[in-house]
Amino acid sequence: MIPFPLPGCVVTGTVQIDKTLVVDAHTTAVIGFCPTCQHHATRVHSRYLRTPRDLPVLTQHVQLRLLVRRFFCDQPACPRRTFAEGLPELLPRKAQRTTRLTATLHDIGAEVGGTGGAALAGRLRIRTSPDTIVRILRCHACAPLPTPRVLGVDDFALQKGRVYGTILVDIERAAPIDLLPDRRPETLAAWLQDHPGVDIITRDRSTEFTRGATDGAPAAIQVADRGTCSPICVRPSSACCSGACRTLHVGLRLRSLTTNHQAPPESSRSVVRHGSGPRAKRGASSGRVASKRSRS
Ligand SMILES: [Zn+2]
Repeated sequence: MIPFPLPGCVVTGTVQIDKTLVVDAHTTAVIGFCPTCQHHATRVHSRYLRTPRDLPVLTQHVQLRLLVRRFFCDQPACPRRTFAEGLPELLPRKAQRTTRLTATLHDIGAEVGGTGGAALAGRLRIRTSPDTIVRILRCHACAPLPTPRVLGVDDFALQKGRVYGTILVDIERAAPIDLLPDRRPETLAAWLQDHPGVDIITRDRSTEFTRGATDGAPAAIQVADRGTCSPICVRPSSACCSGACRTLHVGLRLRSLTTNHQAPPESSRSVVRHGSGPRAKRGASSGRVASKRSRS
């Protein structure tokens, strides 16, 4: 008996190997569903072991040894001959970690970043690496971000004195959400038209941003202020539930922009530090965002 559930499986035994609790289990479903044609199948092709890691128990690492089946798909029109049975609640196909372990690593990484997250996970008896946490955050960052109600607009330097872009900040969540490749009013207006729902826009007094905000979101209230976004762009992300993810999302966009302008590419790990670590506190103006990132 183990003190946690294994959805879709029944436990057949446990064994202690060094500091790892190994849990033997097998699946309980009678039939499988082909991922290609979605038809059920009952004819078993073979059985094999999967050995994903799971959340730790007290001071022990946990590894599963799941006996899963491969089924024949007997649908004549289906191009797939065989398929492995799925465990949608517990374990994605081909994954080496359970869904709940991946979710935990994501939450840790979103709070403290890749390097800090790996160190914290180690103290929690979860074996991982900074790169793994960054990969998990990057997958999550691909999801579209919600349109902010209060939007901050400011410029930043892609190449200081030569090329400037526009940074967009969710003021209420205190998190950067997107970067635009220039500061032309047409670009800002197009972004606002693609993201309806902005009620308030805070910006500096440049005519470009004024025109872009007016054309893109004519119903929004505009608040003119100098350096509105700067303290937020460099503020630690603790106020945001997924601050590192948002910063990473923006960081990936920044990398594509800097690549287009032939600036040195930055590592994704440095982007996570920027939004959540102490380095984030040091940049004081939005014009220094790009240079700070490239140095970190
Ligand atoms: Zn099929």
